[in-house]
Amino acid sequence: MPPTEPADAVLQRLKTGGKPAISAALAAIERHPESAGSLALLDAAFAAPLAHVIGLTGPPGVGKSTLAGALIRLYRKSGRRVAVIAVDPSSRRSGGALLGDRTRLAQDPEDDGIFVRSMAARDRLGGLAELTIAAMVLLRALYDIVLLETVGVGQSEADVADCADTVVFCVQPGSGDSLQFMKAGIVEIPHLIVVTKSDMGEAAARARADVEGALELADGDGTPVEVLSLSAARGEGLDELLSEIDRRWAWLGREKRLAVQRHRQAEAWISDHLRQRFGRRGLQRAGDVDLREGQSPFARLAVLSKVLD
Ligand code: GDP
Repeated sequence: MPPTEPADAVLQRLKTGGKPAISAALAAIERHPESAGSLALLDAAFAAPLAHVIGLTGPPGVGKSTLAGALIRLYRKSGRRVAVIAVDPSSRRSGGALLGDRTRLAQDPEDDGIFVRSMAARDRLGGLAELTIAAMVLLRALYDIVLLETVGVGQSEADVADCADTVVFCVQPGSGDSLQFMKAGIVEIPHLIVVTKSDMGEAAARARADVEGALELADGDGTPVEVLSLSAARGEGLDELLSEIDRRWAWLGREKRLAVQRHRQAEAWISDHLRQRFGRRGLQRAGDVDLREGQSPFARLAVLSKVLD
């Protein structure tokens, strides 16, 4: 992008420029994440959010890609524009198709209302790469829905919660996932729990009962977590999921909940980045990392990093 072009103009251009323009902007951010142009664009995007960011997580094979494909089709039918970020733990790169590739298979390449992007998780187990956060912030300013699809491997649920507005956790019938996720403390994280493959009959009903039992035992923060059953393959239960997601979006929009949650996330990105790069000592040296209300973290983070370098 030309350095003289104001970031707001770049953002406007990306809204109408189609997929190649967005891919180019993401590539530029990846190449030079701390350039003045990248930081200005990310700050502009941070200040102009549009999308509901939905984290879709769960173990491999649970049906996330199939569900993502079904959700994308329904959103497109209702005229909403969707971006998908599929995060693959890098250790799994060698085995099988990447999430993003599988999701992409279900898409119409001519449709500018869908944008799919695969990204590797950073090497630290589970965690989301900073570039994932940057991509999310940019796409959040350009689309109505951002789907953040990640393989659930323990820590990654917490990482998704640092990035998404709404976390949907998928559980597979007959897998013991519900016990697993109680043990791992994951039960605290999702806002919606989906039991996939409801066409599997008795096993699916049992999985749902297990999850509901696990939630009763959990000591949550008082916000009830909805449990839904669906079959993405048969297209059953998808409308209910969409309604729940929209209900949560309306709830987030009241009493500044969304703004408060995103503000906390942005502060967590700064602390996390500084801790990764400069260690605990560095984070302490940085002192106060709080952001003003509505302040974007990107330029701030670059300044703090320069000071510590
Ligand atoms: P992911 O690894 O979580 O992304 O899971 P996939 O979407 O790739 O699905 C894993 C397997 O489960 C595939 O063989 C799918 O065909 C199958 N699958 C996905 N959704 C359903 C469903 O609703 N019912 C049934 N019976 N199988 C499904």
